[in-house]
Amino acid sequence: MQNKPYKISKNVETLSAYTPGEQPQGGGWVKLNTNEFPYPPSPKIRAAVLAEMGGDCASLRLYPEPLSKKVRAAAAKYYGVHEDNVIVGNGSDDILNLIMRAFGGEDLKVAAMSPSYSLYPVLAKMQGAQLEEFDFGPQCKLPLEKIAKSGANVFILTNPNAPLGAAFAEADLKYIADNFKGLFVIDEAYAPFSNYSAAKFAAGRENVLAVCTSSKGWGLAGMRVGWAVADKNIIEILDRVRDSYNVDRLAQAAAVAALEDAEYYSGLVAKVVEERGKAEEFFASLGWDFCKSSSNFIFVRPRKNGAGGRDVASELFDFLKSEKILVRYWKGDPKICDGLRITVGTKPEMQKLKESVLKWISKE
Ligand SMILES: *Cc1c(COP(=O)(O)O)cnc(C)c1O
Repeated sequence: MQNKPYKISKNVETLSAYTPGEQPQGGGWVKLNTNEFPYPPSPKIRAAVLAEMGGDCASLRLYPEPLSKKVRAAAAKYYGVHEDNVIVGNGSDDILNLIMRAFGGEDLKVAAMSPSYSLYPVLAKMQGAQLEEFDFGPQCKLPLEKIAKSGANVFILTNPNAPLGAAFAEADLKYIADNFKGLFVIDEAYAPFSNYSAAKFAAGRENVLAVCTSSKGWGLAGMRVGWAVADKNIIEILDRVRDSYNVDRLAQAAAVAALEDAEYYSGLVAKVVEERGKAEEFFASLGWDFCKSSSNFIFVRPRKNGAGGRDVASELFDFLKSEKILVRYWKGDPKICDGLRITVGTKPEMQKLKESVLKWISKE
């Protein structure tokens, strides 16, 4: 950039912003592109948010409680850990940012799997940290020895993986915790849809941090609340680089109500898991390739007239969009441009998806 009266920080000069999935304005869409929960959050949240506001919103005049103590306590209770082991963020993206700020840097390398959440490279670059990316084998396996020997200061594992959906064995997590010499971050945004959370494991280890969010499993993407569980020394370090008032009043109230209403969510998560199974059966019946999912989405590689690949995936993406169904597609990423990531929605939404897919297959 020339002729400007300022300079840009070296790390930001060549940085490209993270590209979020499309958030269409206006109704009528079947929105299966950003892994939101397909059902409304617990009805107790409405009551909690209204109570927090008060009749005249007077509470909004005052800053929120800076540590989000009640959310820390509710998350601690939910996982069966001590509240000193919990930190709360403005979405888990905030927490991932704190992790990079505190533990990544020009001399502190970061490592992650590829493909995984495409925000990690942006956050690493912002800190000037080198990012080393490891490939999955064809079986979606973790290269455990390479990870252990990477020399990185932070290794981030998305478990279950996004965008592929596969979960990793507990023994693999334990191997990494035992052998990787750095901070092992487990981003478990989709853990509510799997049968494992690493939160308790993380609380009992010196070098493991489990990051979770209310956005996917609790239906609160619009509220922006995430949390992480780790050894209290790690929490203390993250608190040093946290914005003082990083979670607003209404978000704190909503998150507490959500974490306390496990019963409400367990039934709805079961419905998502059931629809996921049916969608996998459907894709299998078409002969399409997909990773067995432990999340609320499926990464599927579509085929038409016996052929797959980028053009086929791209064509289906466009067709679905013309049917007002949004899914996620990374056209520019050679590792995943032959597939679509499809969020598991409600039963009627999945029915519409199926019908549209069949319509596409029988077209011309
Ligand atoms: C959605 C997602 C997040 C971000 O969640 P927020 O709490 O909404 O910021 C983090 N990690 C992964 C892998 C995700 O898919």
